[in-house]
Amino acid sequence: MAKIADLHIHTHFSDSTSTPREVIEKAHAHGIQCVAITDHDIVDGVEPAIHAGQELDVEVIPGIELSTQINNKDVHILGYFLDISNQHFLRKLQTIQASRVERMRDMIDKLAELGVGPITFEEVAELTEGDAIGRPHLATILVKYGHVRNIRQAFDRYLADGQPAFVPKAKLSPFEGIELIRSCGGVPVLAHPMFTLVDELIPQFAEAGLEGLEAHYPNCGTKTIAYYAKLAAKYNLIATGGSDDHGEAKKNTYLGKMTVPYEVVEQLKERSDAIR
Ligand code: AMP
Ligand code: ZN
Ligand code: FE
Ligand code: FE
Repeated sequence: MAKIADLHIHTHFSDSTSTPREVIEKAHAHGIQCVAITDHDIVDGVEPAIHAGQELDVEVIPGIELSTQINNKDVHILGYFLDISNQHFLRKLQTIQASRVERMRDMIDKLAELGVGPITFEEVAELTEGDAIGRPHLATILVKYGHVRNIRQAFDRYLADGQPAFVPKAKLSPFEGIELIRSCGGVPVLAHPMFTLVDELIPQFAEAGLEGLEAHYPNCGTKTIAYYAKLAAKYNLIATGGSDDHGEAKKNTYLGKMTVPYEVVEQLKERSDAIR
């Protein structure tokens, strides 16, 4: 049987509820031979996943999903086959994580000023293994205490860009993100372009070293996928894909909901070899 890969998966080192081992067990059970661990701004889930993968014969690609901003838009850049022992890269990630921690404290303060709380930093931090703490964790606490009905309402009322408890993250541009990923041998890919909607910038991203578009993404329709696959071909980008699994934290997708043929992995590997 032809091998398949799911190239967009989170763990509890960012905002999924799954441990790296659970991710690998799920992949094994679903007959998926290769996964990429792509946590937000952190790579700590990669090694434990590799260990579990060796036991269950699931290949693990070291990855990341970097948060960047341009024109007040969040642009997520996936990176594949990164050297996760690169010290310069790890130091940069630590800076990004420290600013996430600071920002979480600021958002909790803003909520307190709005009369929403008391919420402690510690109880939010308990929801994640690593330091890549973010708004989904805070939203979960707001739901838990009944301040809002659901995650969506937490964002709409308090946490979405421009809402009263929103605090921006440290600014990293997509161009800096692309460069950072390449600096440790990683292959940069624009995540879920159909939801980020920065089509007009794709030529510039490609010029700056972007190597792929995540055309194959769940919940967007076959026409949209075909459109981005075609756009990828136009700019000599690889059309990648994955489920964006977050375990129980995101109900509209699951590991294996979107996969790509293993040939896509081989293409990514070739580009990584060319970058190194
Ligand atoms: P952060 O990295 O802390 O800025 O949080 C960004 C994450 O929050 C994104 O990756 C989404 O998973 C989630 N998110 C952003 N906007 C919304 C929204 N309106 N409703 C639900 N989740 C959202
Ligand atoms: Zn996430
Ligand atoms: Fe994303
Ligand atoms: Fe993601």
